[in-house]
Formats: sequence, structure tokens, C-alpha cells
Amino acid sequence: MEVMQRMGQIAVVVLMSPLPFAAFACSMPRPEEYLGPATLRKRMVAEQIKARGIRDERVLRAMERVPRHEFVPDHLQTVAYRDHAIAIDHGQSISQPYVVALMTELLELKPNSVVLEVGTGSGYQAAILAEIAARVFSVERIPQLADSARCRLERLGYRHVSVRTGDGYEGWPEAAPFDAIIVTCGGDHVPEPLLQQLKPGGTLVMPVGPTTDCQTLWLIEKDHKGRLSKHKKGNVRFVPLRRGD
Ligand code: SAH
Repeated sequence: MEVMQRMGQIAVVVLMSPLPFAAFACSMPRPEEYLGPATLRKRMVAEQIKARGIRDERVLRAMERVPRHEFVPDHLQTVAYRDHAIAIDHGQSISQPYVVALMTELLELKPNSVVLEVGTGSGYQAAILAEIAARVFSVERIPQLADSARCRLERLGYRHVSVRTGDGYEGWPEAAPFDAIIVTCGGDHVPEPLLQQLKPGGTLVMPVGPTTDCQTLWLIEKDHKGRLSKHKKGNVRFVPLRRGD
């Protein structure tokens, strides 16, 4: 009897112990380095982007497809899908994933849209635009960033993106007019050449405000008669739009 009791206890211990352990192990969030980039992107879209109200399926799909970790410096690849901006070379940064998604959604891109981006940086935002639009033109003032973004985008197969070094304040007159314009650096006003290069019916998004502080995200719509209307879409913080050297 005593033996039976003891055997019963052992059986209970043996049977029970792996279960709570397994349950515990499953509920632990797995560190990023053990999850593949595709899984991390799915999680990023669900938790940071959908959860905050982005609904445009084309934007969600683009955010799920573009390998953000390929656009950040090697030592930051493991944190590429976290909920914050990431420093890239030359003191610049890639925006937080949610801000990239929000600005893209505000543009209301269509498969035949032609888009201008001011501030190529790493090329990440350009790749997101290229997942949705027909043609993307992107201007970057720092030649080394423009060159590496161009190579990266080409390597990843984004052949309908053109990157050039220059002052994005002036837009890209030879490629204008654009259905949509996105400025990914902040200034105290929207450059007049960009407003001129926007098609009637087009949309422009830009952070506007004091360059060293927080800016307001502006959405500007040009109606079919060429009239402009301005809508404020929350506060953001971007590196400044610079002119000259
Ligand atoms: N969209 C980028 C991040 C932009 S950071 C990405 O997805 O990685 C802002 C970029 O704007 C910086 O690279 C900065 O050099 C660039 N920039 C600032 N002023 C500019 C100007 N006048 N013309 C073009 N690019 C400019």
C-alpha cells in the first residue's frame, strides 16, 4: 500500500511537472533573435500598426513585405522591428514603423500613382511606397546616403524607384507632376516648388514646425481646380529639412 502510494506520488510528479513548465515556456515572449524577420514583421503590423488604427490593406501588406532590417546598420538589425525610430548613418534616422505607415496611408496611393519623396535616407520609406505605387522618385541631399539607398533598393528588386542626390526643396521638376508627395524631414513651411509639382487631385504629407522641436504632420490636398486645403494629423518629430551645406 505504502509502495503504491509512493508510486502514485512519483507518477503525479512525473506527469505534472512537464505541463506547467511547457505552459510557462509557451507564454514567454520569444526574444527577437529567435524569430525570423517575416514573423517579426507580422507582429509589428498587428501590434504597432493595425492596433493604432491603420486600415488600408495595401499599406498593411507593404509593411509586412518590406524587409526593414535590410535598411538599418548591421548592429541594429535585431531591433529593426521595434516600436521606435532607428539611427542610420550621417546623423539621420528611419521613422518609427507606425509613422511610416500613417504617412503612407494619408497619401491614398493607387497602383498607378507617381510619387515624390524628399529625404531618401535609407530608402525604407521609398520601398514601402514602391510596393503600392507605379513609380517613385526620391531625392536625398547627402550623396553617400543616396548612393547606398540606390544600391540597396536595386538589390532588393525595387527597379521602379529612382534616387538622386540634390536639394529636395526644389522637388524633381523633370519628373513632375506627382499624384503624391511625401517629405520625410521637417521644415517651417511647405516648399512652394513642391506645391506646384503636385497634380490637381493630389496629396502631400510633410512634418511642419520648428526644425529642432516637435512638428505637426500636415496633409495638404489639391483639388481639381488647384485649390489647397490643409489638415493637421498629429505631432511627430523628424530630422530637419536642410538647404545648402
Ligand atoms: N525616409 C527615410 C528617412 C528620412 S531621414 C527612410 O525611410 O530611411 C530624413 C532625410 O532627409 C535625411 O537623410 C536627410 O539627409 C534628408 N534631407 C534633409 N534635407 C533635405 C533636402 N533639402 N533635400 C533632400 N533630402 C534632405
